[in-house]
Amino acid sequence: MTTFVWDYLPEYHAEREDILEAVDTVFQSGQLVLGESVSRFERAFADHHGLAHCVGVDNGTNALVLGLEALGVRPGDEVITVSNTAAPTVLAIHAAGAVPVFVDVREEDFLMRTDQLAAAVTERTTAVVPVHLYGQCVDMEPVLALARERGLKVLEDCAQAHGARHHGRLAGTMGDAAAFSFYPTKVLGAYGDGGAVLTDDDATAAALRRLRYYGMEERYYVVSTPGHNSRLDEVQAEILRRKLRRLGAYIEGRRAVARRYAEGLAGTGLVLPTNAVGNDHVHYVYVVRHPQRDTVIERLRAYGIELNISYPWPVHTMTGFAHLGYREGDLPVTERLAKEIFSLPMYPSLPQHVQEKVIEALREVLAGL
Ligand SMILES: *Cc1c(COP(=O)(O)O)cnc(C)c1O
Repeated sequence: MTTFVWDYLPEYHAEREDILEAVDTVFQSGQLVLGESVSRFERAFADHHGLAHCVGVDNGTNALVLGLEALGVRPGDEVITVSNTAAPTVLAIHAAGAVPVFVDVREEDFLMRTDQLAAAVTERTTAVVPVHLYGQCVDMEPVLALARERGLKVLEDCAQAHGARHHGRLAGTMGDAAAFSFYPTKVLGAYGDGGAVLTDDDATAAALRRLRYYGMEERYYVVSTPGHNSRLDEVQAEILRRKLRRLGAYIEGRRAVARRYAEGLAGTGLVLPTNAVGNDHVHYVYVVRHPQRDTVIERLRAYGIELNISYPWPVHTMTGFAHLGYREGDLPVTERLAKEIFSLPMYPSLPQHVQEKVIEALREVLAGL
């Protein structure tokens, strides 16, 4: 049997009754779109973060698009983010009609280099999207200070950071708004697509509710700005509300897996993930570094282990973003990391014997290089 970096089936087998009950609850409710389950999940997710509003949407990419639009980002604006992220971060900025501008990341933890932000701001810049990558938070104090000074909005990309904390503050509670994905692999994952935007601001929340519902405030009436159809599905919302109660346990499970890797892989020459100061990591993915990355991945295949790379191509080097005018060499750390990183199997229900097999195989492969 092949081992993959992620598998939801062990969790499904453990939680099957609850999940099937969630589906049945919605089907019996008589309300299949924007009903009780969406509003109950929204309330629970907002409360979990101590914020006034959560607006459920159809996926994390659209959570970012609607978040940018609701914060007032307009076509032609510049939005600063990182190239070292999942492409959707950048696709969302593009979809909002704005121009993505990149800063590099820190060598030690792959997170946004906030010291490069000030130089990236122009008179067209209206927002910053810090990406809490792999499960830990960007150093938010300098981001927020610059945003205040230059009048920029901050939209946190929390797609990989449910439950992560930065100096005690939860990811998603530090910016003007925060975008979450509930794609199945995420720390809080649905059984299909889902997303949400958090904000404490009433006007932003009202804008988000219009934007996800064609731009309408009342049925059949487009109020001001034409919007989207980006509603969170009732079934996914009901599943997510139930799973939210177990978020703490999922995170503990991920941390236990991370601890076993740290013990089992010490001294092998692999560069293991580090926690930045003040960060409580939730280990969405477990990313390691090795200069002979491709050989390691290739040799592990012989052991029936299929690893993943998050992400093999920096966004600024993708042909689809050639029009932005970046070249190889512009973001040296981002580019170097992309050649050396790879991800090990990571999910809370990863069976221990499977993880031990991975550690054993990795040790053999690395010793034989
Ligand atoms: C997963 C992810 C997204 C997009 O979420 P979807 O639900 O897949 O649209 C955006 N940003 C980051 C950092 C992600 O990891």
